[in-house]
Amino acid sequence: MNTTKTTDPSSRLPLPARLATLGAIFLPFFGVIVAIILVWGWGFTRADLAILVTMYVLTALGITVGFHRLFVHRSFETYMVVKVIFAALGSMTVEGSLLNWVAQHRRHHQHSDTASDPHSPHHQGQGVIGWIRGFWHSHIGWAFVPDVTSLTPYVKDLNQSRALRVTSVLFPFWVALGLVIPATLGGLVSGTWIGAWRGLLWGGFVRVFLVHHVTWSVNSVCHLWGARTYLSHDQSRDNFLFGILALGEGWHNTHHAFPTSARHGLRWWQIDLSYEVIRLLSLVGLAWDVKLPSKQARLDKRRDSEASRGPHHNHSSAVEAVETVESRR
Ligand SMILES: [Zn+2]
Ligand SMILES: [Zn+2]
Repeated sequence: MNTTKTTDPSSRLPLPARLATLGAIFLPFFGVIVAIILVWGWGFTRADLAILVTMYVLTALGITVGFHRLFVHRSFETYMVVKVIFAALGSMTVEGSLLNWVAQHRRHHQHSDTASDPHSPHHQGQGVIGWIRGFWHSHIGWAFVPDVTSLTPYVKDLNQSRALRVTSVLFPFWVALGLVIPATLGGLVSGTWIGAWRGLLWGGFVRVFLVHHVTWSVNSVCHLWGARTYLSHDQSRDNFLFGILALGEGWHNTHHAFPTSARHGLRWWQIDLSYEVIRLLSLVGLAWDVKLPSKQARLDKRRDSEASRGPHHNHSSAVEAVETVESRR
């Protein structure tokens, strides 16, 4: 567990830089919504919307429930066939193969917001330029930085499973399948080739674009804007908008405080669709050993609680030790 102290660079962020980066995220989203309105009725129909939403939710769940909560943090256990289905769905978002994604994210938690974090927005210099560069780096720029660290040690557990190794290597196949499925659906629903092309466009390319930005925003936005309810040794934030859009992953400060918890939105109003899916899986016997932080752990980690202000309190080890396991097998 990382114990490096970080300063709070976000507290002195210049307003123009904040606005510029906010625009960089929301203008493309806004552009897609405007495009949908402009072509509504001929270029975008109810069938296109249904295909887009279905593909978005299913493949994003592949990332949130599969890649992230199941594979990176092992916050619940399930059958191998379910693991492979989630791994395939997650691969369809075109965010890299299973093993690579898991390794990078484990590295992020180990070094969160220090210089060794693969995608922290906080180490690209001072002032307006530093802020914009930091935002760009954490959002997408980091993906273009050549890796100097070996990622193999981070995925020793997954490497032991032949099924998962093969699923990971098949990444290009899953990507192609993620485009073929919406195209086929579009063709079947409309009975035309044009319908198939529209399925490919909306359920394939536009869907990948939306999932990309939402996932990357968890790395960028959720380390810059939002509430810091729990102690977490980094700049992670609980961000309401991405709590919804990223299917629960935007409750990111809570996640950094309780990384192995299957539930990220711990309060009743923090909508966490990914956890609802895990809960549903556990109700029908497809998930077990679902990890959740105990009430005491949550109290201990609250920034405003008495316990967390104690001079000798070791936050990280205390919380890891009291996390409870809810077994429903
Ligand atoms: Zn993070
Ligand atoms: Zn995580």
